[in-house]
Amino acid sequence: MANCDLLSTCDFFNNIMPDLPATSEYLKNKYCKGIYCDCARYRVCKEYGRDKVPKGLFPQEIARYGR
Ligand code: SF4
Repeated sequence: MANCDLLSTCDFFNNIMPDLPATSEYLKNKYCKGIYCDCARYRVCKEYGRDKVPKGLFPQEIARYGR
């Protein structure tokens, strides 16, 4: 599986995950380097634009958007 194409510019990956050491490796491996199409941040970004992605939205919070 390829890496997420937003990885180099993703706020969550680059700025929030480093503050969550307990979960960051899990989330990186599962979403950013895995099923990124199922990431809530990825979906919102692709559908509505980067500026519409809530700052605190986690990859697994897809249900918040029902998409
Ligand atoms: S999978 Fe989600 S959290 Fe990870 S880099 Fe892509 S948009 Fe960011």
